[in-house]
Amino acid sequence: MMPRQVGDIEYVLVPGSGRKTTDIVIERDGKVVVRPPENYTPEQADAVVHSKRMWIYRNLAEWQDLNATSVTREWVNGETFLYLGAAYRLALVSGQDKALQLKDGRFALSRQVIEKGGSEAARQAFEFFYVDKGQERLTQRVAYFAPKVGVEVAGIKVKDMGYRWASCGKSGILNFHWKCMMAPPKIIDYIVVHELCHLHHRNHTDAYWNEVDKVMPDWRERKEWLRKHGASLEV
Ligand SMILES: [Zn+2]
Repeated sequence: MMPRQVGDIEYVLVPGSGRKTTDIVIERDGKVVVRPPENYTPEQADAVVHSKRMWIYRNLAEWQDLNATSVTREWVNGETFLYLGAAYRLALVSGQDKALQLKDGRFALSRQVIEKGGSEAARQAFEFFYVDKGQERLTQRVAYFAPKVGVEVAGIKVKDMGYRWASCGKSGILNFHWKCMMAPPKIIDYIVVHELCHLHHRNHTDAYWNEVDKVMPDWRERKEWLRKHGASLEV
C-alpha cells in the first residue's frame, strides 16, 4: 500500500492485484483505494486517477453525505437502539444483574453501568451485547449458507472491524463487525453470503458476483440498502 497524491486527490495505491483494468473504490472510511493492473507503474496509476477525477469527486461528495447521517448518542432514557433492524428504546434500570439486556421490548441498561463507568461503559455494554448475539446468529447463518455457496469455514469471529463490515482471513476464519447485528436479518444474510463467496474469489469481479447471484438473486437490493443506511448503524 502506497499513499500517493494527484492534484488534490489523495489515494492509496495497492499494486499487484492481477487485474486487467484499474479498480477505484471509496472505502467506508472515505479513503480512495486504487488497484491497477500488475504491470502498471505508479505514474500510470496517477494518470488513471487523474482521468477519473470527476467520478472520484462525485463519489467522495456522496460519501460525505452518507456519513452526515451517522448519529451521536446520548445515554438518556428514551434513546433508541437498533437490533436486527428494529429500534428499541433504552431504559435505565436499577437492580439488574446483567449490564444490558433486551427485555419487554426495550434495552434495559443497568443504571450502575452509567454511574460507575459513564458513557464509555454504556457503549461497551452495547458492544458486548452485539458481539454476544452476533456470535450466535452469525455462526448459524454461516452454517446455513456455507453448503449453498459450496465452501467450508474454519470459524467466525465477531469484533470491532473499524470501517469494514466483514473480512475473510487466509485461514478460512470469517470476521464480522458487531455492528452487523443492528441491520435487518436480510442484510446480515447478505453480508454473510458476500464473505462466503470471497472464499471462491478474493475480489469483486463478475465471476465473484455470479457466485453471490446463485445463492442470493436479490443481492443488489440488499447491497444498496447497506450502502444507503450503513452509516446510520452506530452506537
Ligand atoms: Zn467484498
